[in-house]
Amino acid sequence: EPRPRALQVLAALRAAAREVAAAEDELGRLDSVAGDGDHGRGMVRGLEAAQQAAAAAVESGVDAGELLVAAGRAWSSRAGGTSGILWGAMLEAAGRTLPEDDAAWDRWATDPVRGAARAVQAAIEAVRRVGRAGLGDKTMLDSLDPFHRALRADPSVDLVAAWPRAAEAARAAATATSELRPRTGRARPLADRSVGHADPGATSLALVVRAVVPARVR
Ligand code: ADP
Ligand code: MG
Ligand code: MG
Repeated sequence: EPRPRALQVLAALRAAAREVAAAEDELGRLDSVAGDGDHGRGMVRGLEAAQQAAAAAVESGVDAGELLVAAGRAWSSRAGGTSGILWGAMLEAAGRTLPEDDAAWDRWATDPVRGAARAVQAAIEAVRRVGRAGLGDKTMLDSLDPFHRALRADPSVDLVAAWPRAAEAARAAATATSELRPRTGRARPLADRSVGHADPGATSLALVVRAVVPARVR
């Protein structure tokens, strides 16, 4: 019997996959400014793998957290590239923060904005642990951290309202990475070329969170 929250996460991954597929070429162009041009392809492959693993997880009857862990593992192992490893680690870490039974979900649902912020906090910690980048290094962290801060600071307990506000903060922050010089990753040797262009990983992260429309948790 599929769990409703697992189905919601699968739907979110599908929405993200559609959004990223539509931007694949643009993400590739951004990554070819100072990187190797494969970011669009890597994100599409990663999301395809994540979706397949999530669909199988739904069928096996697991809940949302375990589904995200399975999706993250598939993303890491099949996307290729730095961003694939980091996205896999993010989904796994976020998934581990989610409740494991209905009673815990009932508590989570009293303040889903703070619950989601804790999941995103875990994702940030995973990216920092694995990638060792800092804020301002021109990476996905530079849109992920503003996304997290916006969620955490949102006065609402309504995730359906708060999430898109945080997604808008991520979009603005991704655009603002144009001003930055890469201090880590493959783009670092050609850092000067990158100025004036947004970071591909920060841009795709903003697209993913924009595509995700949280359902009301009950
Ligand atoms: P690769 O550089 O291996 O080809 P991708 O092109 O898929 O991987 O992803 C590049 C993106 O990954 C960058 O735009 C940046 O946002 C992100 N990135 C690279 N290195 C790091 C890191 N150490 N920490 C966080 N994000 C990183
Ligand atoms: Mg690349
Ligand atoms: Mg590459």
